[in-house]
Amino acid sequence: MSALSARPVPKAGVLAIDPYVPGRSTANGVAKVHKLSSNETPLGPSPAALRAAQETLAHAEAYPDGGATRLREAIGRRFGLDPARIVCGAGSDDILHLLAQAYLGPGDEGILTEHGFLVYKISIMAAGAEAVVVPEKNLTTDVDAILAHVNERTKMVFIANPNNPTGTYLPFAEVKRLHAGLRPDVLLVLDGAYAEYARANDYSAGTELVSENENVVLTRTFSKIYGLAALRLGWCYAPAGVTDALNRIRAPFNVNTPASAAGIAALADEAHLSASIAYNTQWLDWLTNALRALGLEVTPSAANFLLVHFPQEQGRDASAADAFLAARGLIVRSVAAYGLPHALRISVGSEEANRLLIDALAAFMGQAHG
Ligand SMILES: *Cc1c(COP(=O)(O)O)cnc(C)c1O
Repeated sequence: MSALSARPVPKAGVLAIDPYVPGRSTANGVAKVHKLSSNETPLGPSPAALRAAQETLAHAEAYPDGGATRLREAIGRRFGLDPARIVCGAGSDDILHLLAQAYLGPGDEGILTEHGFLVYKISIMAAGAEAVVVPEKNLTTDVDAILAHVNERTKMVFIANPNNPTGTYLPFAEVKRLHAGLRPDVLLVLDGAYAEYARANDYSAGTELVSENENVVLTRTFSKIYGLAALRLGWCYAPAGVTDALNRIRAPFNVNTPASAAGIAALADEAHLSASIAYNTQWLDWLTNALRALGLEVTPSAANFLLVHFPQEQGRDASAADAFLAARGLIVRSVAAYGLPHALRISVGSEEANRLLIDALAAFMGQAHG
């Protein structure tokens, strides 16, 4: 006889999960706030995407196309992929959860890296599996360390490339070496949430690795460079066996009609995409140089945010900087939960926000010196 409980009890593992804490979006007593805490694009979405979403609202009574057919076709055309091997979701977080639900259970292990995206840990644990956290090297995914942690219970490996919150990336040769070292029954998830921002010649999101193998999935999102985070839209390119599994367990209408319409229009607006990439390139470099000129250590970033390291002295540390910036309406991201208590993650913002940020940090560093 099992013991009676006075109320329903979540299954094993659920209460061990630390809930995800999103980047803050307000500051007390400050009129104008610049949110640099969630890696949202300062340029906003394509106006065409907004119009397309709005037009669908006149028929909000109708269920969406559960197969997101037109969206998958548009993604397929844009990236040269077979639409049958694309699954769309309510953000790529939806896809990450579905992957873990489909491939992990009690007794299994899922790997993420030391400063990897915390949604992986939540997805792994929610599936009843154990999250194994592997050390990084120089704030970068360490292929040898991951391979050293794979055992017979390992079923999945999650890496974001470029990674959030470090901004570092793994050259494609290293991703291929990681894949080559995994058993064919271990699923490698490559999270390309920031793929559009990566400029290095040796970077690849990994599409070709998915095409050629049965154990690699690439996830992508409309939340970052496409500026559609509020609509919740993401997708994955996956082997047929994986799309089959995901399509069996996903919510039947997990992508809403305005989101699909916006996604299709956003993909067609290549000018907006190019402008967003150019804007980010310019200001990422400007911010990196300006922060370094203030004496701050900045991890080189392949994405649309910077990991900025603060001195470990009272009054000059990351939490003091966080409070100083917040009081001036500049909301940045604490990354203590990512094992980085001495750093802050700062998204590339509008020109106004970027200049205010540097002015504020100049005052912060100068003030602390005095
Ligand atoms: C922002 C982000 C995502 C995207 O999440 P959505 O659910 O698509 O909004 C996925 N992975 C990483 C690493 C991210 O930073």
